[in-house]
Amino acid sequence: MNEWVDKVVVVTGAASGIGKGIALKFVEQGATVIACDIYREQLSVMKHSVETEVANTSLYVSPFDITNESEVSETINSIISKHGKIDVLVNSAGLQYVSLLENYPSDMFEKLWRVMCFGPFLTMKNILPHMKQKKYGRILHLASINGLIGFAGKSAYNSAKHGLIGLTKVAALETALDGITVNALCPGYVDTPLVQNQLADLASTRNVSLEQVLDEVIYPLVPQKRLLSVEEIADYSIFLASEKASGITGQAVVMDGGYTVQ
Ligand code: NAD
Repeated sequence: MNEWVDKVVVVTGAASGIGKGIALKFVEQGATVIACDIYREQLSVMKHSVETEVANTSLYVSPFDITNESEVSETINSIISKHGKIDVLVNSAGLQYVSLLENYPSDMFEKLWRVMCFGPFLTMKNILPHMKQKKYGRILHLASINGLIGFAGKSAYNSAKHGLIGLTKVAALETALDGITVNALCPGYVDTPLVQNQLADLASTRNVSLEQVLDEVIYPLVPQKRLLSVEEIADYSIFLASEKASGITGQAVVMDGGYTVQ
């Protein structure tokens, strides 16, 4: 039997980019998927388009702010009462803001940290008791190669992602005997709205085209000279959440077109 048909999967940051691609990939596999995001309108658009294309879809949407403790706990509790369990948690909620440290707005620094490190902590804090009781769980955090290396201008993003990898290791150790794995997926540049916005900012600052930004700024950093696709990240996520990956835990797993090899 398809291992996904009786699985309940929660994806945060699911209204856009990587989170959306992962949520739809799990729906395609037959899992019951709850897509969570702060972007309420986009969640409704996504649900409507899936329902138009797929009969009997098992996609549910649940708007929440991953940094809001009571919203996270209410959402998780209502998912558990409706679906009985959560087998897989994928945390993809995120955002970017680039500035030199001395100019970095403190409220933005705190916001990035809250969404990409505190948020994953809150979701795990609420879900782990249920997973431990069931003796099963797969947790995947979208970290980044920026959780492994430094990048000038990305103090908040890089420190949040480094923190997220640390959080992943602690959670993996605390759940190692409970049938639960916790991993951090570390992509390089993926073609999503988050990256397209960064490219557009660079193009406007340098007064050049998007193609020039790719050729002159991004591709020199990436040996494969391309952006990764959401589809590639989604396929890898399905593998990391599968039975076959039950021995992989506490890892920062890299998919970056060779970026960190140089
Ligand atoms: P995206 O902007 O397309 O999607 C991010 C989603 O997170 C959006 O739908 C947004 O509404 C949601 N979100 C933001 N704040 C939230 C909050 N407080 N509560 C709930 N949801 C919230 O971005 P993406 O490129 O798909 O990135 C997804 C994740 O992957 C992020 O964590 C990002 O850091 C990571 N990542 C992306 C890349 C890349 O190249 N795109 C590379 C490495 C890691």
